[in-house]
Amino acid sequence: MDQNTMAPETLCSHLETRLLPADNYALATPIYQSVKFAVEDFDELKRIFRNERTGYFYSRHGNPTVAQLENLLAQLQGQEAGLATSTGIAALAGTLLSLLKSGDRLVYFIESYRPSRVFAEKILRKMGVQLTRLSIDDKAGIQAALALPDTKAVMFESMTNPQVRAPDIDFICTHAKQHKVLTILDHTFAGFQKLKVENCDVVIHSLTKFASGHGDVMGGMILTSQSLRHELEENLILLGATLDPHAAYLILRGMKTYHLRRRAQCENALAIAQWLEEHPKIASVSYPGLPSHPQHAHFREAYEDFGSMLLFSLQNKDYSIEDIVARGQLFKLAASLGSTESLITPALFFFAGDLSAEERVKVGIDATSIRLSIGIENVADLIRDLNQLLDRVN
Ligand code: PLP
Repeated sequence: MDQNTMAPETLCSHLETRLLPADNYALATPIYQSVKFAVEDFDELKRIFRNERTGYFYSRHGNPTVAQLENLLAQLQGQEAGLATSTGIAALAGTLLSLLKSGDRLVYFIESYRPSRVFAEKILRKMGVQLTRLSIDDKAGIQAALALPDTKAVMFESMTNPQVRAPDIDFICTHAKQHKVLTILDHTFAGFQKLKVENCDVVIHSLTKFASGHGDVMGGMILTSQSLRHELEENLILLGATLDPHAAYLILRGMKTYHLRRRAQCENALAIAQWLEEHPKIASVSYPGLPSHPQHAHFREAYEDFGSMLLFSLQNKDYSIEDIVARGQLFKLAASLGSTESLITPALFFFAGDLSAEERVKVGIDATSIRLSIGIENVADLIRDLNQLLDRVN
């Protein structure tokens, strides 16, 4: 229909589409803020559905802005393909729900992000999935659990939350491969370091953290092979935790400065860890960049950086950290991590409430443990703020 002949209310819903000429393109990723994509030939639409050609139909199935983010992160991590989700936990949950069925066993660890453990224990257990919860130090236990005939997957983190420790990724992947067990690595804390993540079947990121970097958008990513992506995609489309194109755009924008931010955060974290370690009121500091960290040599050899997260505890084990955690002038008591601003979190309350007393000792969290996420502020200002907090401790 000729647009000049349309009534105003028709024209407003059927305006002329302005396509860019083939030799002319936007330098910033365009946001395809559209749920629907029209196709001019039904046969071509069927080919899109059969994955015989690229094309878009409905944004829950795929969106060009989201696809750019998937491609970028797959390239950065040496993986064949990416599948974006609305949050990091949606990436983990979608992967586990897709790959596991009743009777299968999942191996997972006490040194991990608490909601990942709770997801397994609440949702997967209800589905009839069997669970084996271990410590990353329990090599004999890991070997035995991976060899069990019903074990289907193992889920672990490359830098554990909140202790900042490293599992033996090679050991887990080698034994898992031997027994055809799928390896699911949550790589969120480590950022986009390559390590040997290509040895893992699935690499998960919460993009809410270092990728977006500004604490203003949530997202998740599953990085894997083309064939596994295809299998997961079929289920994730039905689970519906799709990443919005505007969120994908913000994360892509965040990625432009990711490496600069990460470098600044890591430098600040090392300086703060060193300062805390010298402080008379501090009992322990867990930061892989410190020679006192039990895995310092391993991190130095195998990792590209030591990260921007650290855990410390007080000498005075009777002191209530509730009196200081909300008193930071720069260090705010808030959820999340990896953004430009520094954050402070009481570790027992947030990360270890589901662990037994014995498990808390194993993961190194007590009532005075505090997690810090270090931002890109001036490090002297950050230390001044920590100093005023520690001055309050007796
Ligand atoms: N994995 C780790 C290690 C995390 O720290 C988090 C969030 O803190 C998540 C996954 C979940 O990410 P999101 O909050 O984007 O769902």
